[in-house]
Amino acid sequence: MSIYLDHAATTPIDARVVARMADVMASVHGNPSSTHNPGRIARGLVETARDDLAALIAGQSGQIVFTSGATEADNLALFGLMRGAPAEQRHLVTSRIEHRAILDAARQLEAEGVRVTYVDADREGRVPVSAVEAAIGPQTRAVSVMWVNNETGVIQDVMAMAAICRARGVIFHSDAAQALGHLPIRLCDTGIDLASLSAHKMGGPAGVGALWVGARAAPLLKPILFGGGQEHGWRPGTLPLHQIVGLGEASRIAAEQLAQDIAHYQAMTELLAARLSTLPSVQRNGPAELRAPHILNLAFGGVDGEALHASLPGLAISGGSACGAERGEPSYVLRSLGRDDPAAEASIRFSVGRQTTENDIELAAKIVENAVKKLRSLWSD
Ligand SMILES: *Cc1c(COP(=O)(O)O)cnc(C)c1O
Repeated sequence: MSIYLDHAATTPIDARVVARMADVMASVHGNPSSTHNPGRIARGLVETARDDLAALIAGQSGQIVFTSGATEADNLALFGLMRGAPAEQRHLVTSRIEHRAILDAARQLEAEGVRVTYVDADREGRVPVSAVEAAIGPQTRAVSVMWVNNETGVIQDVMAMAAICRARGVIFHSDAAQALGHLPIRLCDTGIDLASLSAHKMGGPAGVGALWVGARAAPLLKPILFGGGQEHGWRPGTLPLHQIVGLGEASRIAAEQLAQDIAHYQAMTELLAARLSTLPSVQRNGPAELRAPHILNLAFGGVDGEALHASLPGLAISGGSACGAERGEPSYVLRSLGRDDPAAEASIRFSVGRQTTENDIELAAKIVENAVKKLRSLWSD
């Protein structure tokens, strides 16, 4: 049995979502693009899901493009904006602490001749608005900065960045995968032009997400896949009905209990922080005030990172992001905050979810405390 504190990597699917998906898989079989009756029933379910997601983000249903997840949404946003850019507008601004879906796409765009400026985060893990503003030039087509960082949980000032972009005639995209279902999001009230969304970080299934495309971005966005013309031609292919229904149901639930979920996440991460702050030399990566409620990232001084992670088999946690874990590298996000390699390695990202209990937190805190104390005693011998 392990205590699951890795909800920023993926969340268990909410039982209500499982039930809804199973029901649709068992009973509905039409292609949403078909005009016969089964097709129309499927189409109706897709549109209900679209409305439920739109309600969660305060966007319009017609602005949602279903994708296979936030990775694809990030790729559609960046390639869709930059490949169609005129020669004098081939400049993209992003940050060094983005998810790999953005950073790897940006690298590929560089190989295709796009100029990319990477803005550093400050020591608190915030991408300074002034640095983003300074990076914008006459050739800048788009700026992409994530809403909530997936390793530190730090909330970025995307509203201020979006306002600057709007004033400068630049498109602003934000990867909102960690913000969705964890912060109130009202896209219609912001200057944000495009936002990437994912289902499996908020109780939905993996393999489905969306790109929200605002009115200013729509005429500039070119497709990156070609096929049957679905989703305004931006995302051709038969719509995965049960996946989309799962995303819709997860959205409906998230909207219904957002305040309650946020309070729960906050209570769980603050309890954990309080328990572990009794240990000496524990530091937060990212300040408490600017943090999304579900992520707590702590650096443990005086212990070897690899030994620390190896001594916590009862905990499902992660060092940096789940994606970096496979490569076994210290987190580029923590290093960009000015943490050296040992500090970045001896850091743990705890992320909680709806099912996390106080008991989970108390047990996890004990396990971590014991491991750190034991490693420190070996270290000092
Ligand atoms: C999880 C995550 C992604 C990838 O989302 P998928 O739906 O798994 O493709 C992208 N960006 C951030 C910030 C994430 O946390």
